[in-house]
Amino acid sequence: MAKTKKVLSTGRFRNRYGLKIRRRVLEVDKTLRARHTCPNCARPKLSRTAIGIWKCWKCGKRFAGGAYAPTTVATKIMKGELTAAEALMAEKAEAETVEKKAESEAELKAKAAAEKAAEAAEKTAEKTAE
Ligand SMILES: [Zn+2]
Repeated sequence: MAKTKKVLSTGRFRNRYGLKIRRRVLEVDKTLRARHTCPNCARPKLSRTAIGIWKCWKCGKRFAGGAYAPTTVATKIMKGELTAAEALMAEKAEAETVEKKAESEAELKAKAAAEKAAEAAEKTAEKTAE
């Protein structure tokens, strides 16, 4: 399937639907196609057969999970591994790191643009000197 450098697996959509949506789909794609270990036999052989239905190809265990991942935050809360407050905190921290990433990317782009402008200015200065 078509894969691109920028949007990886969502390159299969070519230029349709817009970059932002393709990036969001990419996040889902990554979790969906990642290696998930079976809760029954601990082998990394889980795959999704339908939305929310996961099956292990080694031991045959089939169970209900998340739409795009076998376990979700809701599952963890239900099993008592996480409290609702802890889940909220984790979600907030994740959102903050994503925001910071976006900010740093924007800063890098601005820096690169400034450098290019400076180079161009130098070149024009040299030309006028000649
Ligand atoms: Zn298994």
